[in-house]
Amino acid sequence: MQVGATGKAWCNSCGGSKWHTVLHVAQQNFPRESEYDQDEDNFYSMLQCRGCDNVVLQKDWYVDGQDMQGGHPSYYPPPSLRKRPDWLLRWWGTSGLQAKPVFLICQEVYTALQNNQPHLASMGVRAVLELAMIDKIGGDRSRFDENLAALYSQGHVSLLMRERLTTVLDVGSATIHRGHTPSSDDLNTLVDIMEHVIESLYIHEADVKRLAERTPPRPPRVREPKPPQDVNVEGVANKGG
Ligand SMILES: [Zn+2]
Repeated sequence: MQVGATGKAWCNSCGGSKWHTVLHVAQQNFPRESEYDQDEDNFYSMLQCRGCDNVVLQKDWYVDGQDMQGGHPSYYPPPSLRKRPDWLLRWWGTSGLQAKPVFLICQEVYTALQNNQPHLASMGVRAVLELAMIDKIGGDRSRFDENLAALYSQGHVSLLMRERLTTVLDVGSATIHRGHTPSSDDLNTLVDIMEHVIESLYIHEADVKRLAERTPPRPPRVREPKPPQDVNVEGVANKGG
């Protein structure tokens, strides 16, 4: 790749394959030292996303001029399975949970997803959900099903979400205790539910509270005087008969 050239690469910030511009290229050469050896080159290209200015390093590996990765170079940081949600920074800034494990482990879930560590990601989702539940219900009931029951009885989640959480928490448990490896699709579902619950418990709750504070109160209702019973709608007195 040449400086100034453009090409498609994955952008973790935009969450997709985007056009990038090559800012700089560095070459690392390992010359052939014997007849049994081969000439080897690493090319490190610094790329900048043309959509969001995010910068990523692409590494191409060539042996005797042949692309050893078959058109699939390595990237640093690696492409992420999931884009971190936009509300993560707001959660960090407004929840008071910055240094708490629930927030830190949530961050680590995305790092695990970015580094192809499905077991750690799955265990992390379970940990985040359990810690969020305990935080919301005001203390650990010692068993996850009791924590979940308290979360439901206090009205934080619907009956449907309670059932979904039971399944999601069991995947984490299966990973920890039964050596289960969740697929990429399963991981996406786990993270979908984790994001939905965190957003609902923390972000939407704060948003709705602010919305209520900004909404002017209803004016007191003024009751219209009722017309006398013997007067019709045109205001003409009924004569009877
Ligand atoms: Zn981008």
